[in-house]
Amino acid sequence: TATIIDGKAHALALRTRIAAHVATFRQSTGRAPGLAVVLVGEDPASAVYVRNKGKATRDAGMESFEHRLPADTDSATLLALVASLNADPAVDGILVQLPLPAHIDAQAVLLAIDPDKDVDGFHPVNAGRLAIGAEGFVPCTPLGCLMLLQDVHPQLSGLEAVVVGRSNIVGKPMAQLLLQQSCTVTIVHSRTRDVAAHTRRADIVVAAVGIPHFVKGDWIKPGATVIDVGINRTDAGLVGDVDFASACGVAGAITPVPGGVGPMTIACLIRNTYVSACRRDAVEAGL
Ligand code: NAD
Repeated sequence: TATIIDGKAHALALRTRIAAHVATFRQSTGRAPGLAVVLVGEDPASAVYVRNKGKATRDAGMESFEHRLPADTDSATLLALVASLNADPAVDGILVQLPLPAHIDAQAVLLAIDPDKDVDGFHPVNAGRLAIGAEGFVPCTPLGCLMLLQDVHPQLSGLEAVVVGRSNIVGKPMAQLLLQQSCTVTIVHSRTRDVAAHTRRADIVVAAVGIPHFVKGDWIKPGATVIDVGINRTDAGLVGDVDFASACGVAGAITPVPGGVGPMTIACLIRNTYVSACRRDAVEAGL
């Protein structure tokens, strides 16, 4: 059966490593890296994410600035807050928690964030930088997936990778990262004629679909590495996009849900914020 990839342990190790770097950064610059998190409204899942991000930020020795705005906040107010965070020298990273209420143009808000403080990597400038291989910020979830993959495959070059899903926050940046590592990358999506035919020849499958148990064990090549990004709330609790029970018997290595990709996402946010502070102060990040 498959090796279980322990995302929790990887994430803890990364956060500990970043915390040590942050301590050195504070000593040499006399300031702490800062992450501003903006939450509009009372979506319970978002509130949990924001709380966890704040705690992880402080645990790493960084400063957390949390802005909670009522659900009826208008676009102008939110854009004014983003502008003030862009201008604030104590803020190295800005994150606006999605989804935003329907009356706010989320794309306009993401566009307003200074790309050099966009630690979520959602700004089109950072998407473009990733596409051309320039320095920028890579979205945290696919970055975390890449780190887990690199641990299993120190050499990704030449491997067949299939990414299931083409969202801007997971599927597309994941494919870009794998391409950068010289994988042969296929993206499959809702209009793909035969998803299983593609996944069956993959050395690496990354599932980011948002459908519980979508990828079955018999869609996987024996020995392949399977990264399950899915977080689906069902009556049976949190489940991934991969049918873990059947995939386990076939895959060589697989991430569980929970405890796989999820913890890596926050750890990468901490990493990106530290990297942003280093760039802004022209300090070597040492990662
Ligand atoms: P999304 O809904 O934006 O995108 C889903 C993608 O799946 C789409 O591109 C679509 O083309 C594809 N798809 C839909 N039906 C399909 C089908 N039948 N066959 C093939 N492809 C199909 O979702 P997302 O934001 O990319 O998130 C995907 C999953 O990952 C969700 O479960 C989400 O909760 C989870 N997620 C987890 C984290 C984390 O930190 N672990 C972060 C972001 C998202």
